[in-house]
Amino acid sequence: MDPYHFGLISSNLSFFPRSLVIHDGAEYALAETAGGARLVVLAPSRSSVLDAFEGERSELGDQTLLMGTLSPHNAAALRVRLPWLQPRLLGLRTSVGLGDRLGLATPGHVRAIRMVQGKIAPIFAQQSIREMTRTRRTPQQVMDDATWGVFAEGWRDGFGADADHLKTPEDIDACLAAGFTFFTIDPGAQVNNLVETASLIDLRRLVDRLPVEVQPRASGLLGKGFDIDGLWLTFSEATLLKATAKYGQAIAHVAAMYRHLEQTATPRPFELEVSVDETDQPTSHTEHLYLASELKRLGVKWVSLAPRYVGRFEKGVDYIGDLAAFEADFAGHTAIARQFGPYKLSLHSGSDKFSIYPIANRLARGLVHLKTAGTSYLEALRTIAARDPDLFQEIYAFARERYPDDKVSYHVSAELEKAPLPEDVTAWDGLLEQFDAREILHVTFGSVLSDQTLDGQRRFFDRLMAVLHANPEAYAVNLERHFVRHLQPFTENVP
Ligand SMILES: [Zn+2]
Repeated sequence: MDPYHFGLISSNLSFFPRSLVIHDGAEYALAETAGGARLVVLAPSRSSVLDAFEGERSELGDQTLLMGTLSPHNAAALRVRLPWLQPRLLGLRTSVGLGDRLGLATPGHVRAIRMVQGKIAPIFAQQSIREMTRTRRTPQQVMDDATWGVFAEGWRDGFGADADHLKTPEDIDACLAAGFTFFTIDPGAQVNNLVETASLIDLRRLVDRLPVEVQPRASGLLGKGFDIDGLWLTFSEATLLKATAKYGQAIAHVAAMYRHLEQTATPRPFELEVSVDETDQPTSHTEHLYLASELKRLGVKWVSLAPRYVGRFEKGVDYIGDLAAFEADFAGHTAIARQFGPYKLSLHSGSDKFSIYPIANRLARGLVHLKTAGTSYLEALRTIAARDPDLFQEIYAFARERYPDDKVSYHVSAELEKAPLPEDVTAWDGLLEQFDAREILHVTFGSVLSDQTLDGQRRFFDRLMAVLHANPEAYAVNLERHFVRHLQPFTENVP
């Protein structure tokens, strides 16, 4: 250590061991105190470094020790001083999105990423606007929580920040202001799911109503055929009309969102994902090609695309469907992504889909992005089950009550009748392995985190967070184990 410094190590503070860093003449660390975690900065008293931070100062000879809360102000100042805490672009590297609804999962996520030795690029800040609303967090809070987690673990090898499932220009503005670098545009509301059974006349009528810029004639696709790595795709009039009726409005929306993003973000660089995963019908290969061709024609640039694949991607459980059918489907999508990009294929609701990871890795040849979110909440519940079984039991009983209402906005097949009754459960953490209970706990997170008692207190939130704050190591260990299982299949070399 630089003898120039007093040395935080020699103070009697207790540190998160991997947080300690010396940079540009100052020392930084995260300390554990009776009042919670604190940012500690030690710098020569004459240095201007300390001016950027807020907190209590004490003089130690010619050094000043500043101790501050994990405030938005200090997070922003720290990102300026320690540039590796700023999110960056990941490009076409194999990547994983590690959504964190509680804001405490990043340390465990970092540890899992370390275990795969730089083979997978992480996104540590990731949340959709819908989830931010449900968890009452702002884009800035999502960013700051990731900052503190990355700082705590001493991760310096870069990470992305995904503003997920954005639907309006205002969503983009809010996430840009918070420093996000990766923008997932979701035109799901503009996708017309009713075209499957429409007649040619109906399709023409639907297409006539679309904006000029996405009219079939403009696409130049009519009558064209494409050889996609042996997969032959052609655009008859009916095929093109159907693709246009289904996705035309969505393409116009993505193009408009992209232009808005480009205008607002410049000169800051950004990357884009297009997601149509939350639609009723799978995206056919021809429709994928149509989407890619049209987006390209309209000047949109993207690094990843999430089609709606065949089979069911339910939350927090393995893939439901025929693996051979998935393989054939994914093979076509990945061939299109290589030829029309290259860009990555994104696997949304990607957590716990253990049976398809080897298939996806083999076919994508590295061009893949795995997106996860709620499964980290389930690992938080696992931690609660071990440390405070009574609280977990209360949460489970409440989740069962909420499930009939909460499941409406998700694609899940869990049945209340099949999930164990609270009084029949003997091992609480084993409950997380039961399919129905797992989905029930997964989709009720918003209710669990926000439900209030009559006196206006949040019913579970503070207790749940207190257990996790008191057991950061247990939570991190659970997350690391869980995510190594997700990541390992994507590190296998493909011949
Ligand atoms: Zn999604």
